[in-house]
Amino acid sequence: MSARIIDGKAVAAELRAEIARQVAELKAKKGIVPGLGVILVGENPASKSYVSAKEKAVAEAGMFSDDNHLPASTTQAELLALVQRMNRDPRVHGILVQLPLPKQIDEQTVIAAIAPEKDVDGFTPVNVGRMLIELPCYLPCTPHGVIQLLIRSGVETSGKHAVVIGRSNIVGKPVAHLLMRKAPGGNATVTVCHTGTKDLAAYTRQADILVVAAGRPNTVNGAMIKPGAAVIDVGVNRIPDAALKSGFRLAGDVDFDSAREVAGLITPVPGGVGPMTITMLLHNTLASAQRAAGA
Ligand code: NAP
Repeated sequence: MSARIIDGKAVAAELRAEIARQVAELKAKKGIVPGLGVILVGENPASKSYVSAKEKAVAEAGMFSDDNHLPASTTQAELLALVQRMNRDPRVHGILVQLPLPKQIDEQTVIAAIAPEKDVDGFTPVNVGRMLIELPCYLPCTPHGVIQLLIRSGVETSGKHAVVIGRSNIVGKPVAHLLMRKAPGGNATVTVCHTGTKDLAAYTRQADILVVAAGRPNTVNGAMIKPGAAVIDVGVNRIPDAALKSGFRLAGDVDFDSAREVAGLITPVPGGVGPMTITMLLHNTLASAQRAAGA
């Protein structure tokens, strides 16, 4: 058996077309262009490539972006001042601070400084708390993208066993919550695995839905998957490859070749979760602008 490939690019393109249509409508009816404030500090190559993909997607959706690429030597006070300026700027409906930040800056302090109503990444303590007690909030982009991929691929989550590998604040914890909550794409029984888990395969083999966000290639292979399971690979790893001009190739956390022989559905890397993350960022920025417009 060979798994059906979940085409994240195609699902994302469909959603982005709808977002662009709503952006044009907001502009025509209310004269408001959704704006995203983007802050990149330093020269981390992966961060630079994520930020440029986000800026391109913002422009393609007809939105405005306030791009700020700051040197690695930026102080916490300088960064906080920029966040405060964006909090006050009515053209900016969402603020994206690309992580990780250089060592001299405390990430949690910077995240907490973002006005919750502009926290389109859904990372502030206020947003995370609201999500957990199921009040209106911005859902964090990658976890929300995972849920949308499952829904749009026709994967039933209700009553199923979902296993999540990873417990980070930005992926593992929120995706586990969204799979558990009583809502479309949720209502699953959820198990969360991490480096303290003994015998990882004993859990993954029970998963109807397996979400892998470990940040380590080959964390899961075909022998660890229940036949027919839906496998969502969140991992993005740069594998050195001298044969390529870039010097690396991208790989997920799942050994794709062995996994696709056992799984029922599987996301590729690249082209799976990645395009959905950016799409949900556009979705949240549009929602913030619509709210500001009273639309
Ligand atoms: P992270 O903060 O490093 O967290 C990794 C988690 O995986 C930790 O909870 C860790 O456990 C667990 N883990 C690591 N190795 C494991 C193993 N062998 N067995 C079981 N658990 C293991 O990473 P992250 O920020 O969540 O990101 C995870 C991956 O997703 C990365 O590759 C990242 O690049 C990618 N990512 C992709 C997107 C996208 O848009 N596609 C967005 C965000 C992140 P402990 O807690 O015990 O250390």
